[in-house]
Amino acid sequence: MISTAPTLDVVDPADGTLLDRVPDAGAEGAAEAVAAAREAARGWARTAPAERAAALKRAAAALRERADELAELQSRENGRPLAESRGGVAAGIGTIEEYAHLGPLHGGRTLAGAWEAADFALREPRGVAVALVPWNDPVAIVGGPVGACLATGNALVVKPSERAPLAVRLACEIVAGHVPEGVLVALTGGPATGRALVEHPEVDVVLHTGSVSTGREVAAACGRRLVKAVLELGGKDPLIVDEDVDPEWAAGQAASGAFANCGQVCTSVERVYVHERVLEPFAAALARRAGELVPGHPIDARSTLGPLIDERQRAIVEEHVREATAAGAEVVHGGSRIDGAGFFHEPTVLVEARDDMRIMREETFGPVAAIRAVRSFDEALAAADAGEYGLAATVLTRSQRNAQRALRELRVGTVKINAVWGGAPGGSAEPRKSSGLGMGYGPALLDEVTAQKVVHMVPAP
Ligand code: NAD
Repeated sequence: MISTAPTLDVVDPADGTLLDRVPDAGAEGAAEAVAAAREAARGWARTAPAERAAALKRAAAALRERADELAELQSRENGRPLAESRGGVAAGIGTIEEYAHLGPLHGGRTLAGAWEAADFALREPRGVAVALVPWNDPVAIVGGPVGACLATGNALVVKPSERAPLAVRLACEIVAGHVPEGVLVALTGGPATGRALVEHPEVDVVLHTGSVSTGREVAAACGRRLVKAVLELGGKDPLIVDEDVDPEWAAGQAASGAFANCGQVCTSVERVYVHERVLEPFAAALARRAGELVPGHPIDARSTLGPLIDERQRAIVEEHVREATAAGAEVVHGGSRIDGAGFFHEPTVLVEARDDMRIMREETFGPVAAIRAVRSFDEALAAADAGEYGLAATVLTRSQRNAQRALRELRVGTVKINAVWGGAPGGSAEPRKSSGLGMGYGPALLDEVTAQKVVHMVPAP
């Protein structure tokens, strides 16, 4: 019999070939998934935290056994070079393990009540959680909701991105094999399926990682129902290059920040404020490094630059570059799509960018470093702090004074001094301005997915 159920095509962005077709669950599928999660939620909430943690540890071990398969699947569907996908998959599994350790330790506290009373605060699972996952680093990202929600006794419905659903679906199926039926349900579908989940009356908390425009819609829908939403959204991260740093080293930092995953990281370096004294050697070194990248299929170990996720994303990058150059920016490397199969774009370095250009104001999410020269650290700091986003920022400086000013004054969730990547475990950052709401990572996520209940108890007379 020929199935007439709607499906979504999953395409290899490196060559445009069809990888797979997945069901488009729609409102009906969303309702079924939420019903299954609701059915499972009560029993899972009553399962001892140590037992839940043990199940998560077994699930993490099972994921680790299939880590290579997950990484390859992810690279094929989202174009990320295989070595980077391996890192992302390992990070996602590590996150689940961290929550398995933290879950049983996450409790309430006693309160200072009257002598004859017992007063305390409990943390309880909210019930049914929904996680809406993006495509750019999906296995790493889904580890957070899976680990935090399941460790605290919530049931979880995961909806991966329609643009790269396969690795997340497989990871969730593996984890689901280690917990009671319905505790973790993955369903594939597009924005309409996501919308149906968010609007479902039986959903108690929504964790959305994705774009600002979708985040606004999710927040509005949650607001109508007065349901908690935790939003980890897009950014337009600045990089400040101070006058006293080695321009060659700074260019290495900028290249990694702007071109890793073809610029498709929420905390990619998207705008660069460089002191005019180091502008020339910095821009030249960055252009040289861009030229050293090797575009190619992500499964080929020689490739260091994958494709963009699809034509829609490539068109945004092209439009931002075109508009900037028409308004006076100068291309010092790249600037164009790479013709042929797949959605490749040259790593691109622009100088003479201005803050009124979209390339300096809106998330580009592509392999572009747009540079503006500044005359002072003050000027750089003011420019970096402007705009609608507040996800993260990096400052390269040898001046402790400037470093301290930056970490105090920038309205962002994460400030990095002298390293575009990295950070200690446990860093729950709160995105500022339009970049999100709440804390989607780290130990604080355990608080977000639980509700605090206060108990006052005295003996009967
Ligand atoms: P997106 O918001 O378009 O999609 C994310 C998920 O939401 C997908 O599963 C999608 O189907 C679903 N969705 C779309 N519209 C919806 C709606 N109206 N209601 C409910 N669900 C809906 O984001 P994307 O394009 O997949 O991901 C790229 C974006 O994610 C970039 O902006 C990037 O910066 C951001 N991102 C942020 C972080 C972070 O931690 N801050 C991490 C990774 C990516």
